[in-house]
Amino acid sequence: SRPPIRNAEERLMVAVRIRPLKADEATRSLHAVDKKNIVILEDDRNDVLRQKRGVDKQYSFDVVFGEDSTQEEVYAVTTRDLIKDVLNGLRPGSNYLEDLLGDVPLATVRLFEGCGCNMMVLHLTMPFRYNATVFAYGPTGAGKTHTMVGDRSQPGIMIRALNDLFETVKNNEEEYSVTMSYLEIYNEQIRDLLNPSSGYLELREDSRGRNIQVAGLSGDINDLHGRVINERSEFLFLEIVMQLLQKGNKARTIEPTAMNNTSSRSHALLSVTVRHSIPVDKKDHLRMRILAGSERANKTKNRGKRLQEGAHINRSLLALGNCINALSGGARYVNYRDSKLTRLLKEALSGNCRTVMIAHVSPSSTQKDESRNTLIYADRANNI
Ligand code: ADP
Repeated sequence: SRPPIRNAEERLMVAVRIRPLKADEATRSLHAVDKKNIVILEDDRNDVLRQKRGVDKQYSFDVVFGEDSTQEEVYAVTTRDLIKDVLNGLRPGSNYLEDLLGDVPLATVRLFEGCGCNMMVLHLTMPFRYNATVFAYGPTGAGKTHTMVGDRSQPGIMIRALNDLFETVKNNEEEYSVTMSYLEIYNEQIRDLLNPSSGYLELREDSRGRNIQVAGLSGDINDLHGRVINERSEFLFLEIVMQLLQKGNKARTIEPTAMNNTSSRSHALLSVTVRHSIPVDKKDHLRMRILAGSERANKTKNRGKRLQEGAHINRSLLALGNCINALSGGARYVNYRDSKLTRLLKEALSGNCRTVMIAHVSPSSTQKDESRNTLIYADRANNI
């Protein structure tokens, strides 16, 4: 089978996770064969007359996580390296002074959830440099939330990714500020879920069409950074994020439980953003260094690279693009200006990006059709 990483620039890993069979689920319709293969049983073994004989179908993926897989294992195999790559850009010596002065966030972790598309997306970005996207796909009840968020005793990918992010920030000498926001897009209107009374919010971008932001969006956990750094607790972190998610979910136009109704078109986007908090005198110093041209060589080089990256839509993200596009009701190809959702996710879809797709299936025979469809979708992504 082919290696999970195709080349340095364009990387897509396709994984499948099977959630454990529940107590009230009697029979299995699929199981992991080994760490890369999964088989769906087409032969109906409950059918005594053997009328519904089919051929068992085997699918291969970069990774198959069986029913007994742990959260740690899933994170380690799918996401840890992605996060490391992105965080490398946070280390001293890799600062782009121009961006620091322009108040461009250093890194953002975003969790996106949309109806009708059955997916959650975790997006870690350092604008114009690296993107890492992990998307969980699969029908309701197949385990997406468990993988991405998890719970107190079994924190998921998002919590672990944020924890790694904080570890890096903590060991850095510079000052950072961390904020979290949670918004909803419904009928092309953006609302702040953490401050619902603020009404509809506008999208803004800088003169070069970069750094797209929601004007007036609250960052509700300005003190998150200090607390996490001091108490070094991923559980505290989980607690805060969960509380904010719950608070935000109450303000949603459509209850998340009713989210599978495609027509409701409510999308939620959670973002945790890390910025440099640069004191004024240091800012002046940086500005002088830019003027003095000490970074000129570096800057020119990077700018060229950035333009190139910005123009390039990663092929491996087409699956995600199509999905988002379907969500936003757009045409066949992603036109970022089409909708607020695609504008907000533009950075997730362009640039130097590594992507992981984790398809989720239930092993229960009652969900066989959904599982089969999910495997077919993941298999298609596998062949992009
Ligand atoms: P989804 O987000 O896809 O709708 P959930 O993550 O809410 O699905 O999962 C449905 C139920 O199954 C939840 O009660 C969840 O705790 C449980 N579950 C899902 N995956 C696992 C797993 N790998 N291990 C243990 N429980 C799981």
